[in-house]
Amino acid sequence: MAFERIFVEKSIAERPATLAVLKKINALDRFEIIEKYDDYFGRVKKPYLHKRNQLNLYLAEKKGQLVKEAPDAYGLAGAPHFYFVHAYNCIYECEYCYLQGYFNSPDIVLFTNHDEISKEIIRHIHQYPNQEIWFHAGEFSDSLALSQISGELELYHQLFKKFPHARLELRTKSANTKVLESLDPLDNMITSFSMSPQSSVKKYDHKTAALKLRLKAMEKLSMLGHPVAIHLDPIIWSPNWESDYQELVHKITETINPDNIRYVSIGVVRFPKKMFKDIKNNYPDSDLVHQPLITTTNDLVRYRKPLRFKILNTVESMLKTAGFKAPQIYKCME
Ligand code: SF4
Repeated sequence: MAFERIFVEKSIAERPATLAVLKKINALDRFEIIEKYDDYFGRVKKPYLHKRNQLNLYLAEKKGQLVKEAPDAYGLAGAPHFYFVHAYNCIYECEYCYLQGYFNSPDIVLFTNHDEISKEIIRHIHQYPNQEIWFHAGEFSDSLALSQISGELELYHQLFKKFPHARLELRTKSANTKVLESLDPLDNMITSFSMSPQSSVKKYDHKTAALKLRLKAMEKLSMLGHPVAIHLDPIIWSPNWESDYQELVHKITETINPDNIRYVSIGVVRFPKKMFKDIKNNYPDSDLVHQPLITTTNDLVRYRKPLRFKILNTVESMLKTAGFKAPQIYKCME
């Protein structure tokens, strides 16, 4: 991964986690020290599509709220869900990605103050001593895409090993499982793969791992004993969506026994109105802008209810027919 310029915040420049990242990207002698990353990152709007060839990297200290409550229906019901932020932005380029327009810049920020983030996770775990509690990484990035350089997985692995009733979910569209393969499997550290039919991956998920590779990566982790899960989200309508999803479910169950998949989430594509404008600007020829979408009174752009429910219920019943049990399946944002 070649970054055009690398900026390091003075306060974390000497930290081992920061130096480890610089070493991994061979940049120990080519970074610039800055006071605060947000004096630069997003200060002047940088077009989203500059992520293709003009990406800068910031190594910084995450300040403010380090652990946040996750939105409704973010994960399996019946337990509290939180997310923590160890990075901003992503090296992949999915046309529906909500990160376009979220920040003023597509540059990558890696936060290296994992000690403070860990302390905050532990503080939350102590608030639920006898109850399952979930933490999600990757709300503003892909959890595995840069894991071989970002270096946090080993630390969070050690942390979650001490708290078996707490769960960590790593969400990804990559097949970059190298770091995880080097760690012993933990029952409470779950890697979830977002899956779409290959036609959809090809059309919308630029630079991500092909479906075949995501399936292989999931199979490999599962065979090593790591818990895995699946997100069928966002499901994007196409004239062949039903047969495409039937084939996808078939490929999944051909690869792995449904009993070995912790959960499957299902969700249809949806956007805040402002974000849909960014998609239209960035990808004016995308099939996404010609979808049967409506804008709701609360400024969400999504399919009409009958289509949403038809898709969700059809895919749910495909999963059940293929051997998944009802408690393994949850629907997102409905
Ligand atoms: S993998 Fe996720 S975070 Fe990365 S571009 Fe795609 S949707 Fe966005």
